[in-house]
Amino acid sequence: MNELLSLDAAELARRLHAREVSSVEVTRAHLERIEAVDGDGGPDGVHAFLHVDADGALAAAEAADRAIADGGPVSPLAGVPIAVKDNMTTTDMPTTCGSRILEGWRPPYDATVVARLRAAGLVPLGKTNLDEFAMGSSTENSAFGPSRNPWDLTRIPGGSGGGSSAAVAAGEAPLALGSDTGGSIRQPGAVTGTVGVKPTYGTVSRYGLVAFSSSLDQIGPCARSVLDAALLHEVIGGHDRNDQTSVDAPLPPVVEAALAGARGDLAGVRVGVVSQFAGEGYQPGVSAAFTDAVRVLGELGADVVEVSCPSFSYALPAYYLIAPSEASSNLARFDAMRYGLRVGDDGTRSTDDVMSLTREVGFGAEVKRRIMIGTHALSAGSYDALYGKAQRARTLIVRDFTAAFETCDVLVSPTTPTTAFPIGERADDPLAMYLADLCTIPTNLAGNAALSVPCGTSADDGLPVGLQVMAPALADDRAYRVAAAYETARGEPTGPRIPELRALEATR
Ligand code: GLN
Repeated sequence: MNELLSLDAAELARRLHAREVSSVEVTRAHLERIEAVDGDGGPDGVHAFLHVDADGALAAAEAADRAIADGGPVSPLAGVPIAVKDNMTTTDMPTTCGSRILEGWRPPYDATVVARLRAAGLVPLGKTNLDEFAMGSSTENSAFGPSRNPWDLTRIPGGSGGGSSAAVAAGEAPLALGSDTGGSIRQPGAVTGTVGVKPTYGTVSRYGLVAFSSSLDQIGPCARSVLDAALLHEVIGGHDRNDQTSVDAPLPPVVEAALAGARGDLAGVRVGVVSQFAGEGYQPGVSAAFTDAVRVLGELGADVVEVSCPSFSYALPAYYLIAPSEASSNLARFDAMRYGLRVGDDGTRSTDDVMSLTREVGFGAEVKRRIMIGTHALSAGSYDALYGKAQRARTLIVRDFTAAFETCDVLVSPTTPTTAFPIGERADDPLAMYLADLCTIPTNLAGNAALSVPCGTSADDGLPVGLQVMAPALADDRAYRVAAAYETARGEPTGPRIPELRALEATR
């Protein structure tokens, strides 16, 4: 494997700025890697990408090389390639959201995060696979077939942003963007042995992110190191007048925090272990890796205490009422008139008929399930008992966080209860699938920050485990500091960071 593929984005950026390597070389190496391992959706490829724009990427790389050669000010990540989850709009590439209903749609504008990537000279390689409209935990709900975990191609890479995390894990891209509504950046990060960050709600613009559940959705970085995630976070974060929920406050100093964490200890940092996230349902190897991570945090000088967040047990049911309710409303816009697919418009049918025919064909089973649950939860007869009650539970969860953060600087838990499960294992069991987000959902409901950092592999199957670090709203830097200190103390993960796909490369 080309050495350029295994470098962190920070090291790539250093070499690019020192002109030891060109962005065109780096970009070409990644395009070749994609060619070698991504496949065409069959069982022997990672299938992280739904669309690769080689020409566009090489043109952006040339522009970055020129900017660096000119010697003027360029952003720290200029020239570094990146993959973008296919639910963020791009003018030069399709945006499908993993759905048939957006087939053929070309967005007329770039998402703010994409515009910021371009302005900073990053090189978009393509769009990554996801569960349809970001609804799922495995990418199996993609209309275009699942992505596969680079550690074991028979297993899921997590979801909904499995494509973004798999691309980073497989060396197909040093960085990627994900979106996290209930865990879709952190859980794929955990099961692919990569870093995934859900920033504080409102601190990264949602303009151009196709809405799933607007009060929960948040874009964030996928990377191979905590510092890389922080560098990307600074590119995409900050106020945006195009997003009405955008927070007009300075971005937390995430890069400084990642650097300080990597250099220093955690003396005096109060770390709370959430007692609800342990026990039954947690794979023994995941619990053991987590316990060991907590030991390391203690050795770094952190004051480790146990905290109880009793209302977190309502998080999953509350989420599965609130998210589908918002989705049922957000997805009403896919009406066959405005975007993408239109079925049965032969001049004999009414608008209503064309709409329902199109939605019948265009949406997959999970999306339909969510639209039905959400429509029911919002209906006059059920609103108080379902949606209203879920919102009250949400308030209790916010209060649990507030109380916990009075005595702790950060909270920790396993990111997800198990390692990557086999493709197909939970496909017909939505409730089992929903459990993958047990530990990540409270943060979305409360709007605070959290990330997942690799914490070794599970002794029972050798697959990656993630440590989740949660911080209060607008204190994302705390999570970065703790994660960077932990990452440095651990050194290299026990498994390879970029799993060997040599057999696969050799067959192509
Ligand atoms: N897995 C969760 C769901 O299916 C979360 C998805 C997400 O964060 N986009 O809703």
